[in-house]
Amino acid sequence: MTLKSIELIGFKSFGKKSSLSFSTPITCVVGPNGSGKSNIVESIRFVLGEQSMKSLRGKGGIDLIYKGSKMMPSSNRASVNITFDNSKKIFSFTNSGIGVSLDFDEVTISREVFSDGANKYSINGTEVRLKDIIDLLSSVNIGSSGHHIISQGEADRVLNASNKDRRSMIEDALGLKIYQYRIKESERKLDKTILNMKEVGALRREIAPHLSFLKKQVEKVEKAREMREDLRCLYKTYFGGEYTYINTEGDRLMQLRQDLNKKALELDDKIGQMEKIKNTDFIESENSKIIREKESELYQVRTKRDDLARSLGRIEGIIEGIEKQFKRIPEVKGRIIKESEWKSLVEDLEHKVDEAINFEDITSVKEVLINIKRKLGEFLHTDNIEEVEMPVITENAEYLEMTKEKENIIQAVNQIKEEERSIINNINDLKDKERESQSQLRDNERNLYQLLSDRNQITSSMHSLTFGEEKLASIKSAFEMEVAEGGVLIGREVIAYAQTKIEGEVSRSSQDDLRRKIERIKIKLEDSGSGNAGEIMKEYDDTVERDVFLARELEDLNKSIDSLRVLIQELKETLDKEFKTGVEKINKQFQEFFALMFGGGSAFLSITMEHKKVRKGDEASSIDDDEESEEEEGNDLGFERGIEINVTLPQKKVKDLHMLSGGERSLTSIALLFAVSQVNPPPFLVLDETDAALDEANSRKYGNMLDNLSKYSQLIVVTHNRETMSRAQVLYGVTMSSEGASKLLSIRLEDANIYAK
Ligand code: ATP
Ligand code: MG
Repeated sequence: MTLKSIELIGFKSFGKKSSLSFSTPITCVVGPNGSGKSNIVESIRFVLGEQSMKSLRGKGGIDLIYKGSKMMPSSNRASVNITFDNSKKIFSFTNSGIGVSLDFDEVTISREVFSDGANKYSINGTEVRLKDIIDLLSSVNIGSSGHHIISQGEADRVLNASNKDRRSMIEDALGLKIYQYRIKESERKLDKTILNMKEVGALRREIAPHLSFLKKQVEKVEKAREMREDLRCLYKTYFGGEYTYINTEGDRLMQLRQDLNKKALELDDKIGQMEKIKNTDFIESENSKIIREKESELYQVRTKRDDLARSLGRIEGIIEGIEKQFKRIPEVKGRIIKESEWKSLVEDLEHKVDEAINFEDITSVKEVLINIKRKLGEFLHTDNIEEVEMPVITENAEYLEMTKEKENIIQAVNQIKEEERSIINNINDLKDKERESQSQLRDNERNLYQLLSDRNQITSSMHSLTFGEEKLASIKSAFEMEVAEGGVLIGREVIAYAQTKIEGEVSRSSQDDLRRKIERIKIKLEDSGSGNAGEIMKEYDDTVERDVFLARELEDLNKSIDSLRVLIQELKETLDKEFKTGVEKINKQFQEFFALMFGGGSAFLSITMEHKKVRKGDEASSIDDDEESEEEEGNDLGFERGIEINVTLPQKKVKDLHMLSGGERSLTSIALLFAVSQVNPPPFLVLDETDAALDEANSRKYGNMLDNLSKYSQLIVVTHNRETMSRAQVLYGVTMSSEGASKLLSIRLEDANIYAK
């Protein structure tokens, strides 16, 4: 890479646009005091992003803008453009995405400062941030510490610096700043990540109780869901059962009601008929009337008969009287028995009877009786006493009349008896009939009673049917309410359950069991109080998701913390290694150049390990404000590395740097500067009168070293030293023009030699 050119517009003493091109290894800038040479050096510092006003010899941005003269007006801004060769595409950004294309053969960096102190940076005309410029430059080993630009009088700055600052300068010169930068970046990232991790951890801890609360809620919801599922199954069976029961029972009751109504009608009809019959039965029957008539007839007949009997008795009395008047002779078979005979018979019989009474044995009595019978037979001249007839008195007229009368009466009696018998028969017949009809009546009553009892039975059945219907109606309304409730608890599907008949018998007791189970679950569901399941589930899912996300983030952060720590460690180790080898290499060159300049002696750098002196709070008071405080690096035990310069001059015992002469200090500084530049050559090196304190002999040695160094780095050298000028291929002469502004003219090599003489 080469520095191609620089352009100054209104920068400090350069009121007019001026430019320098650097096409040769060594370019010298020469001119009288106060002509603006150092301003050119500062313009390079400026455009490369220098932030220290002190390094630019100003107090503010306004000091960098051309102030004008009697002849020329002041500028409103100062701007510098520096152009590098990029044909090999060496420029790059470590952090991409600033929207600047580097795919050009040249890269021009520009910086403008305005009177208000505002700065504007751009790369190839695209405005960028200072950070981007620093980033871009670090990719071509141009560090921000400006070790490659040695300002006027600052050559021995490295000798005055502290061990720590020296180390920083050496690190920068060795191109190790990038490690420091990366370490810092990584540490910043690490801090940020740890902070993030703490925040994420805190967030996670924060949601933990809520999460566990939600988990419990969700468990409740799950439980409720299970219960609902149980409830659904129960409902299915229960509703089906109720529906079936209600329908079957309803049909049954309806049929029963129809049957009962029909029976009731039939019975009412029958009862009506029966009652009609019963009422007519109360009217006295014809039969009994006839009986009473017959009885009264019988009574009359009997009275007549009694009358006849009395008449007969009277007549018979009359007849008896008449007969007594007649001597009645018994006539036996035509023979008239005489009274004397009759008397003797009676006496004989009396005697024999008296005799028999005294007998004790029955055989003797029998003999007497047989004797009596024989005697009577002898008397009557017959063996059969019944044949004896009494003679009728037929001769008497009254007797005859009476007898006639008697016969008539007897005849009438017989007739009346006949009549009586017929009446009695008649009555008996009628009474039989009456009895029959009474029994019929009783049968009817019995039947009616039976019918009424049946009717009562029906009425009572109807009452219990009504009761059954009311019960069924209440079951139905309870069922409908339950279905509605089920719909709320389970969903519309229950309506289908409530319209599906189930097969087989449905016992009320099993339905009651189901109902009890349903009630129990409903109570539990109510207790569980998981009203807003959807919301809870959603919140739980969201919270779990968030927790998982946070956990994953924590894991990621932990991983990146681990990898950052590893990275930092690796960077530190690399830095450490590179630094040590760098210092070793520098030491080799340093010793060589030192011996060359001093004609002997020894010089080397040593790495020191010191307790940290500068604390974070003291950072602001650090003298070197363009150096980052690095108290945190080195190691974590509160130590930091430093660089110590050890010199031994030939034939001198002096070792302390402060005791060196001005020239000796310059020589030592130059030896170290060149040694460092040799080990890690910067793309270009700007030296402003670094050779000011050198004597002639040393100026030559210095010139030789420039020649050597120019093989690796492009050199821009401000000098009054002719020896130095003689090493340049191009000289730029700076003068203060008559208008009061710096003016440039370039002198070719040949001309330079002339100018040098
Ligand atoms: P020497 O050889 O003595 O080191 P030099 O060539 O390096 O001199 P500079 O230091 O570059 O000189 O220039 C300093 C001059 O620039 C001063 O005369 C100063 O007045 C002038 N100068 C500085 N800032 C401004 C400015 N903002 N406007 C105009 N002139 C300025
Ligand atoms: Mg100067």
